[in-house]
Amino acid sequence: MQLIDKLSILADAAKYDVSCASSGAPPRSSKGKTGVGSTGGMGICHSFTPDGRCVSLLKILLTNFCLYDCQYCINRRSSDVPRARFSPEEVVMLTLDLYRRNCISGLFLSSGIIRSADYTMEQLVQVARLLHEEHEFRGYIHLKTIPDADPALIEQAGRYADRLSVNQRTMGAIRYQQQVVEGEARAPKFAPAGQSTQMIVGADDSDDHSILRKSQILYRQFRLKRVYYSAFSPIPHSPSTVPLAAPPLLREHRLYQADFLMRGYGFRAEELLGKPGNLALDIDPKLAWALEHREQFPVDVNRAEPALIARVPGIGVLTARRIEQLRKQRKIRYDDLRRLRCALDKANPFIVTADYRPRQDSSESLRLRQQQAERPVQQMALW
Ligand code: SF4
Repeated sequence: MQLIDKLSILADAAKYDVSCASSGAPPRSSKGKTGVGSTGGMGICHSFTPDGRCVSLLKILLTNFCLYDCQYCINRRSSDVPRARFSPEEVVMLTLDLYRRNCISGLFLSSGIIRSADYTMEQLVQVARLLHEEHEFRGYIHLKTIPDADPALIEQAGRYADRLSVNQRTMGAIRYQQQVVEGEARAPKFAPAGQSTQMIVGADDSDDHSILRKSQILYRQFRLKRVYYSAFSPIPHSPSTVPLAAPPLLREHRLYQADFLMRGYGFRAEELLGKPGNLALDIDPKLAWALEHREQFPVDVNRAEPALIARVPGIGVLTARRIEQLRKQRKIRYDDLRRLRCALDKANPFIVTADYRPRQDSSESLRLRQQQAERPVQQMALW
């Protein structure tokens, strides 16, 4: 099989993995037409480095052969997709070639499981080792670790890769990786960009309540850098146990919002969703929390702790800090909040300033919720 054919199969097979973010633009191609370029195929996607730079990655699988038969996976053993396999040397060659042409800044490499977890992990490590040691490649490398692979191999992977990501069922691997990070202060850097994982949303009956609690454990106990949520996308020729339709994309969006509130605002999963079920779709999780806790509002921005001010819908953590600085000099007035770019249409019912007190402070939460509910919006095409 030609290298280009392998690339076509193994780049396509990798697109279901969202541990690295990629563009959602509709695919376009100039093949067979006039014009130049293509946004589809061949596995170049975008991701973000720890310092916020956007980088292009070659996103491929080493192979889409797999011993296992996970029902939601397009690469499962019983799937009838075309199969291909790269050798480690082919992946190295492709990566270097695209890197030198300035098409990519790094590599995202995952794999189906062939022969055994250890054998597959060895192959992935081999790619990273060849790139790093023999070719002195200094671009970004993100490896997806293989469930149940030998911890010694995970350790090697962490020495060569900038980021490792793991599947949910590999808590043992995450714990091991964490021990390496904590226990070897003078050892070479281990996956310096951190570890991440992804959860598939809507492929089974897990609700947002259980998903957020799991994420909380991953952040607090396993110190993961990021948890990604990926709305399940139906796969061709799927078994009857797998849903035929994707869950609403808004559910994925609400999970990201709740995740951000846990990481950046100190919310606990139980606060955002106290009982089994899913997050509300009509309002964002911060507003939902505020409406359920009317007894804590309105918040006087001239007196309240910054952490509580940051819990006001429409006011972020940075703005809460600026409010704290400003009120050392003088009383905060309503116009100050406007100048600080607070989203006042959201914040109005929940704040008190030196010259403002909300008229709706005795409003029923239900009425407020109806006023604040987001109108359904449609994503506009960018091109
Ligand atoms: S082990 Fe991974 S690649 Fe193999 S079927 Fe399961 S999810 Fe797919």
